[in-house]
Amino acid sequence: MNTLIISTIGSHSALQILYGAKQEGFNTKVYCLRGREELYKRYPVAQEIILLDSYEDLLNLEPANNEIFIPHGTLIATLGKRALDIQIPVFGNKEGMHWEMVRENNLKLLKEANIRTPKSYQPDEIDKLVIVKFPGAKGGLGYFICSSQLEFEQRISEHLSNGLITKEDAKLAQIQEYVVGVTMYPHYFHSVIHERVEMLGIDRRYETNADALGRLSQENYKIDPTYKVVGNQPLIARESLLPEILECGDRLVDAAARLFSPGLLGPFCIEMSITPEEIVAFEFTSRIVAGTTLYTNGSPYSQFLFDENMSMARRIGREIKQAMGQRRLRELLT
Ligand code: ADP
Repeated sequence: MNTLIISTIGSHSALQILYGAKQEGFNTKVYCLRGREELYKRYPVAQEIILLDSYEDLLNLEPANNEIFIPHGTLIATLGKRALDIQIPVFGNKEGMHWEMVRENNLKLLKEANIRTPKSYQPDEIDKLVIVKFPGAKGGLGYFICSSQLEFEQRISEHLSNGLITKEDAKLAQIQEYVVGVTMYPHYFHSVIHERVEMLGIDRRYETNADALGRLSQENYKIDPTYKVVGNQPLIARESLLPEILECGDRLVDAAARLFSPGLLGPFCIEMSITPEEIVAFEFTSRIVAGTTLYTNGSPYSQFLFDENMSMARRIGREIKQAMGQRRLRELLT
């Protein structure tokens, strides 16, 4: 019987992570902010619920030798670079989280992988539709779309006067070509044990208010899009797109190994937009994404690979079990 404990923070994709770990025979533990534990009582996937007063408390926990922590978006969003200080052994390469967090590095890795990213502009170069992003804007609050330097400057001063951004944010504004395509988020898993990159599912995010704007005529209402994710929808890709989607995952793993050896381990995602001509990537994530919870019972793609109900969380558990069997667990943890 396996006595290893799989733990995570109670939010994001915790239900799936803990359920998948249980399916593979591990004990489970969830770290919850006080007041948020009710969900994990109603869905009993955690054998142990630890209450925290703040996520900072996670950093002070003594490392246990029988616990593996599965990082997800909340760790990065709430602790930023301090997430790297967590003492509990983490599944995957913590260095990847660092590359994910810093927007310039994030794009650098995608470019190193030869994946097309949106073109960047200086204000005086704006000659087509661009999206303007600000640092740390989770969910894109404050982002705006414009198509000339004059419009850019007007919107920046509006944002400054109504306090939506600081002068520092304005200086760091990132101006990107607006990519007119449909978004797709493939869920990859780099298996060190099987020496391969698996694509286990795809989702698209349901973002407010961006996904609500199509209901209004934009001629009558000028509303800035925001991209706060409120849910995820399942998606399969047109089959002829799959080879390129798979190659993007392979190339990202190779590029990451060159830039921060051993690179990306376990789950990762490429946030892409498919235009009529090509695939363009906005960002990569170095850990499990929330959309994987759609496939708690497996996706069409995981079915083709495993012929059993293989969620991303269960896949993590399977990799850990196989690594333990080969005495290679250390290779998967940082
Ligand atoms: P955040 O880091 O705040 O999540 P992102 O840079 O990932 O911000 O952008 C959030 C969303 O904005 C993306 O999921 C996508 O829908 C949209 N987006 C980002 N960059 C572009 C772009 N260059 N063109 C069109 N849409 C974009």
